[in-house]
Amino acid sequence: MDRMRELVDILNKYAYEYYVLDNPTVADIEYDRLYDELLKLEKSTGEVLFDSPTKRVGGSPISAFKKHKHIERLYSLDKATTEEEILAFDKRVGNINNDIEYTVEYKFDGLTICITYENGKFVRATTRGNGVEGEDVTAQVLTVKSFPLIINYKGTIEVQGEAIMRLSVLDEYNKTADEPLKNARNAVAGAIRNLDPKVTEKRKVEIMFYNVNYMSEGKLNSQTECVEFLRNNGFKVHPFLRVEKSISGVMSAIKEIENNRKNLDILTDGAVVKVNDFNVRNSLGYTDKFPRWAIAFKFEAEEITTILNDVIWQVGRTGKLTPLGLVDAVELAGATVKKATLNNYGDILRKGIKRGARVLIRRSNEVIPEILGTTEYFDNCTEIDKPKVCPYCKSELIEVGANLFCPNDNCRPRVVQSLSNFACKYGMNIDGFSEKSAELFYDEFGLRKNSDIYKIEKESLIKLEGFKDAKVSNLLTAIEKSKKVSLANFIYALGIDNIGKKTAKDLAKYSKTLNNFLLLKKEQLINMDEIGEVIAEGVYSFINNQKNIDEINNLLNLGVNVEDELNQTSGGVLSGEKIVLTGSLVDYTRDEASKIIEGLGGEVVSSVSKNTTIVLAGENAGSKLDKARALGIKIIDEETFKLLIKT
Ligand code: NAD
Repeated sequence: MDRMRELVDILNKYAYEYYVLDNPTVADIEYDRLYDELLKLEKSTGEVLFDSPTKRVGGSPISAFKKHKHIERLYSLDKATTEEEILAFDKRVGNINNDIEYTVEYKFDGLTICITYENGKFVRATTRGNGVEGEDVTAQVLTVKSFPLIINYKGTIEVQGEAIMRLSVLDEYNKTADEPLKNARNAVAGAIRNLDPKVTEKRKVEIMFYNVNYMSEGKLNSQTECVEFLRNNGFKVHPFLRVEKSISGVMSAIKEIENNRKNLDILTDGAVVKVNDFNVRNSLGYTDKFPRWAIAFKFEAEEITTILNDVIWQVGRTGKLTPLGLVDAVELAGATVKKATLNNYGDILRKGIKRGARVLIRRSNEVIPEILGTTEYFDNCTEIDKPKVCPYCKSELIEVGANLFCPNDNCRPRVVQSLSNFACKYGMNIDGFSEKSAELFYDEFGLRKNSDIYKIEKESLIKLEGFKDAKVSNLLTAIEKSKKVSLANFIYALGIDNIGKKTAKDLAKYSKTLNNFLLLKKEQLINMDEIGEVIAEGVYSFINNQKNIDEINNLLNLGVNVEDELNQTSGGVLSGEKIVLTGSLVDYTRDEASKIIEGLGGEVVSSVSKNTTIVLAGENAGSKLDKARALGIKIIDEETFKLLIKT
């Protein structure tokens, strides 16, 4: 009972910070672990404390907002993390003869919004709150552009969706925000539950709808009908809705969601499995907290909090110092995490990072996790000082904007990083030339410039420990072979700040020849769609620095042969197609879709004519779609588009 009391108190504190303040101090996985421990104790003792979070949905509405009582109660979702738990759910549902149909959809990680319409007109928007009463956030939600104010349905209706902030929007927002937002869920909750609707508007919130909670007239019979109804009334609905007749089908749909979610611009934390037929739902009913006919399959967590012990500084190829946080080891997304990245000193200040503080980290993909922000301070916290000299060569640092730079061209980590970048597969692609080789050649041969690689001689290599005949000859062959290089790889190899493989390709495609690239004007760079001002500035100052031009000449004199860029797009799957975009796409902005089409050889045209070959129709497509139908032009939806661009 003591432990139960302790758990209830701490969980209620966390829930208050999460639901009421939109400022959690621990990650969801840490909350969920304690919650599960409490649930187990409650089951084994048969006791449930009166203020236990297992009896409640969400948090109470805050008094600053007007309250609204939902016509029908809103619920949370029971959760599963394993296939066994999904099988147990199937059993609880009573699917003995395998005749129950399930739907599987994305579980969006945002803030639930419930919207009321009367006589076809928008009346109000509220949060879920404690499920019975939510906060009236009408003014805030009115700043959201992507939901209808007038619908076809004329009775009283309450629809439910998840307010989300796209990950790309969050990234953009954080680039200039005084205090970066930790994640998309907190960002959107803070945007909607904010007394100033201007804040909501700035965060470009969208709502993805998935449920009709109440309707005064008429009746929907299934989730599939419900989603269709929402779509027909102009609500944004995610196109992924899988209908499955078997639990193995459900599992494979969950797997598909798990794979696809990484490409989605929306934060998702799982898949939701629902009984499709509303009659079956009615017979199953609800617990205090969940519908018995649905379950959320939650994916492995990507965020966790831990203590930051120290910050060390790494020096990159451009001399930029990057802080690296050393943290108390934690298990996250299948790995033990001991280090997490930060951007620069300015980032440390903006995120309020201090030694000894609790920080929130995220590990997505296979890369080193990132520190998203600070969640808790303690008495022993200490400030992170701004370094004055390079931690490696002790040169006095230079400050440019939020970044610190080591000005010494010959500083060991700078040269090593530059050589490794030069030789890597996106650059000169010198097989067998690793970071270790770069370190060795820096120390043993005094390699300082990239072009020095082409001066390495067999006689010196053979003297190195571990360099036998075969290794030496392989490396020399690889170095020789690398001299023939595409323009994109060459641009990448130059190691210009912020130029990754994609931007190097874009620059190559635009310039076609090395000569053109070296003569690019600032306006040309800025006007390139793919390139922002910072990158344009970086490229321009690089190609106008005599030292860099001399080094490029050295490379050319040593036999490097940069091939002109051919028209890479000819032969793409969309080559020859003239494509019109109409309506709104869920997973791409128009710009993104256009770039993909052009990248695959297609041409994006603005109006439908008899020359148009394909019309890509998103949601709420209008007259262009009608015209395409009239002209008998091939029409594809977003899902087909996705399939097409994958081939
Ligand atoms: P939940 O987020 O686990 O799931 C239920 C909600 O999912 C629904 O209410 C709905 O809003 C949403 N949802 C998204 N897509 C949906 C779809 N397609 N169909 C139906 N519903 C969909 O439950 P919850 O009650 O909102 O929150 C509980 C969770 O919140 C906990 O498991 C925990 O992870 C987190 N939490 C964290 C802290 C913390 O301190 N970090 C504190 C409290 C709660």
